[in-house]
Amino acid sequence: MSHDSLPVKRLADWDHERLRDLAAEHGTPLYVADLDRVAANYRRFADAFPDAHVMYAAKAHTGKAVLETLLDAGADIECAAWGELHRAMAAGADPNTLQYTAVNPPDADLDRAVELSEEAPGLTITGGARDTFDRLAERGYDGRVAIRVNPGIGTGHHEKVATGKDAKFGIPAEHVDEVAADVAERFDLVGIHAHIGSGVLNDSLDEHCRAVGRVADIARSAADAADTDLEFVDVGGGYGVPYREDEEPLDMPEVGERIREAVGDLDAQLKLEPGRYVVADAELILTEVNTVKEAPAATVVGVDASLATLIRPAMFDSYHPIRNVSAPDREPRPVSVGGPCCTSADVFCTDRPVAEPERGNLLAIGNAGAYGYELASQFHSQPRPAEVAVEGGEARVVRRRETLDDVTRVER
Ligand SMILES: *Cc1c(COP(=O)(O)O)cnc(C)c1O
Repeated sequence: MSHDSLPVKRLADWDHERLRDLAAEHGTPLYVADLDRVAANYRRFADAFPDAHVMYAAKAHTGKAVLETLLDAGADIECAAWGELHRAMAAGADPNTLQYTAVNPPDADLDRAVELSEEAPGLTITGGARDTFDRLAERGYDGRVAIRVNPGIGTGHHEKVATGKDAKFGIPAEHVDEVAADVAERFDLVGIHAHIGSGVLNDSLDEHCRAVGRVADIARSAADAADTDLEFVDVGGGYGVPYREDEEPLDMPEVGERIREAVGDLDAQLKLEPGRYVVADAELILTEVNTVKEAPAATVVGVDASLATLIRPAMFDSYHPIRNVSAPDREPRPVSVGGPCCTSADVFCTDRPVAEPERGNLLAIGNAGAYGYELASQFHSQPRPAEVAVEGGEARVVRRRETLDDVTRVER
């Protein structure tokens, strides 16, 4: 049965027998991606913005299988580093359709992007500091650029991702007119861009829409100041998914209308760049219980996944749903679930009711598609896990499990 029409795919919606089979065949910890769900998420988002241009923000998950799935579904790709441009092209993206958002770009990244633009004049480079434009000009670049603006207000689920508030990103609103006039003389100024935060759900939608409205105002003013017609106004990504079981998903058709309304009349195409929304609920992690310990303060459940597998709980205090897929109907009991890393940050949950886990049980950690494998590390000399993709009922390994040789390969 397909769950692709659901606004969110929760852990209970995954085929548990299939998950148990995949863990038995490929071992744990294991990333399992549902590529049909990735395509359905993109489609649902794009359908909510019929006259807009929707790009996938690759940094949420740059796996080749995911990029190929999205290119097949008709998405263009937004990249924030040379490595992402490289991988987007390796997955089949036409470089003329790519957008490169350069945040404090290293010289090597700018060199390569400028070189790429010689064969692919359609490439758009987005700068968020005067230095970036000066450095592009020094390289003889005079092609397509967008200006990333900082509207001075932002939304998000955690202060580290509320980028609109953060001076690191974008030209301050009060400098945009002047920068736009200057940039339009030296380059082909095609757009105004902002990415205003992350994890926007129903309770932060009003605030997000206000920020989007502000970006549209900044864009209208910049177009006047530069005396130019903009091709697009890009209001970025940031659309959230419910991580907690009691959170409601965004109603995409409503979000589409609200954003349109916030933007108002625009003499340019509206662009959006969802990352998380497209991939988050399309992937989970399977992990095996190896320890159940009764301590005075808690029942501690040890698993083979760790913060090296999924760092979001340690880094952002993120909540990820956890389900016992071996015995989902057992009586729930409050447990702390943690991995093999020697730090107290290596904990996926504390005091959370989970169907009573026993040694050997398989747990699923949900919503791991966005910033999951992408932020995985080899901390504690742990080879990174394999990733299996399910598509049209077939499963295939899209990233093999690393070995210790992979961990030591760069040592000299
Ligand atoms: C990270 C990022 C996105 C996507 O953000 P999500 O919260 O994953 O939707 C979009 N645009 C830019 C420039 C980004 O850096």
